[in-house]
Amino acid sequence: MNKLRPYQSDLVEQLRAAWREGFKAPCIVLPCGGGKSCILAEIARRTTANGKRVLFLVHRRELVEQIIKTFVSWGVDMRFCEVMMVQTAARRLSEILPPKLIMTDENHHSPAASYKKIYEKFPQTLRVGVTATPTRLNGSGLADVNDKLIIGVSAKWLIENNCLAPYDYYAPDVADLTGLKTKRGEYVTSDIEKAMIKKAVFGDVIAYYKRLAAGRKSICYCASVKHSMAMAEEFSAAGIAAKHIDGETPAEERARIISRFRAGEIRILCNVDLISEGFDVPDCECAILLRPTQSLTLYIQQSMRCMRYREGKRAVIIDHVGNYARFGLPDDDREWSLEGKPKKRREQQENIKAKMCPECFLTFSPPETGEITCPHCGYIFPQKERKEIEQTSGELHKIEGFKIRYDRPEDCKTYKDLLEYAKRHNYKAGWAYHMAVERGIFIDRA
Ligand SMILES: [Zn+2]
Repeated sequence: MNKLRPYQSDLVEQLRAAWREGFKAPCIVLPCGGGKSCILAEIARRTTANGKRVLFLVHRRELVEQIIKTFVSWGVDMRFCEVMMVQTAARRLSEILPPKLIMTDENHHSPAASYKKIYEKFPQTLRVGVTATPTRLNGSGLADVNDKLIIGVSAKWLIENNCLAPYDYYAPDVADLTGLKTKRGEYVTSDIEKAMIKKAVFGDVIAYYKRLAAGRKSICYCASVKHSMAMAEEFSAAGIAAKHIDGETPAEERARIISRFRAGEIRILCNVDLISEGFDVPDCECAILLRPTQSLTLYIQQSMRCMRYREGKRAVIIDHVGNYARFGLPDDDREWSLEGKPKKRREQQENIKAKMCPECFLTFSPPETGEITCPHCGYIFPQKERKEIEQTSGELHKIEGFKIRYDRPEDCKTYKDLLEYAKRHNYKAGWAYHMAVERGIFIDRA
C-alpha cells in the first residue's frame, strides 16, 4: 500500500488549492530525494481514477519505462495515462488525445521549445511540474511556463528528519582548472578533458577515493564519455572494480552493470550525466565530482545522488572541481522565485560561506561568529581568516582561486610543490631543498 509522507501530502493539497485559486501551471519545488515521483504518481492516480487523461512528459528515453513502472505500482490507471518523451510528444501532437492534466518531470527543462509547443497545443489543460531547481543556466526563472511555485521542505529538513542521509563534503583539487573557458554559459568539455585526462590526475582521484571513501559504492561524474571511460579503466587498473555507462550502452549491458553495482561487485560507476537526472540507480554512498559546472541543477543532482536515506548511513561527496565554491553546499537554503535572479547571481555567490579545511579537505558551513574549527579533524582556522573569508567569498566562484594542496611531503611532485608545502607548514626554505635532493626532484630555481 502506497502512502505519501505528511510533507508530500501537504504539497499535493497545496497544488489542489492553487488550481482552485485559478493558477493553471504551478511548479512544485522539492529537493532531490524528496520523493518527487511518489507525489507525481499520487496526482496521476487521483486524476486517472476519475477517468481523466494525464500526459506525463519526460526528457530522457531511459525514464519512460521507469516512470511507468512506478505509476503502475502506485495504482495509476494507465488506460488514462500516457508517459512520453517530450521530443516524441512534440512530433506527434496530432495523435495525442487531449489530456486533462499535463505533468512535467524535471520542470526546469520546460522553457525549451518542444515543451512550449505541447503546452500551446492544449491551452486549456491544467499543468503541474516538479523540480529541485526552478532555474535555468543563466539564472532566469520559469515565469514563462509556470504561474506559481509551490515550495516544499528543504534539503536540511529532509536530512534532519531521516529522509536524506547526512553527508561529509570534501573538496581537494586534483587538476589545474585555471582559465577554463565557457560557451553558452557552461564550461567547454574539451578544456576540461585536457585538464582531467592525465595520469597524475587519475592517480590523485584514486588516492583520494582510497583515503576518503575506500570501498564505498560510488558514482563518478566525468566531463565526457572519453574521460569517463578512461577514469573507469584507471580505477580498474588500480584494483577498484569500475565501469562506465552512458546513454549508448546497450540496455542489456547497462542492466547487467547496474545489477553488479547493486551487488557490490562493481564499486565505481563512471558516467557523464546519465545518472544525473532521474535515472534510477541502486543506493550508493559516495559521489565523485570531476566535472566543473555552472549549472546549479546539475551540481545538485550529481552531488545529492548519494544521499538516499538508509539508517546509519553517512554519504561522502568528493568535489575535485570546486563546484561548492560556485554554489555552496548541496543542502544550503536557497531562495527561489518564478522570475529568477540573474542579476543577483553574484550577490548569491557572495553569500556562499562554505569553508574548506586545509588539513583534511572537509568542506562545511562555518558558524556565524566565533572561532572556526574543522568538525572532522579539529583544525583551527586562524582568526584573521574569518575577515578574509567574508571579503573574498564573492571571488571564490572563480576557479583560479584554487591552489593545489599537499597533505604529505610525498605528495609533492616538483620543487615548487615542496616550497609551497614548506611555506604552509612554516618549515625553513632549506627543508624543501634537502627533501628535493633526497628524493631526486629537479631543483628549479626559476
Ligand atoms: Zn579538517
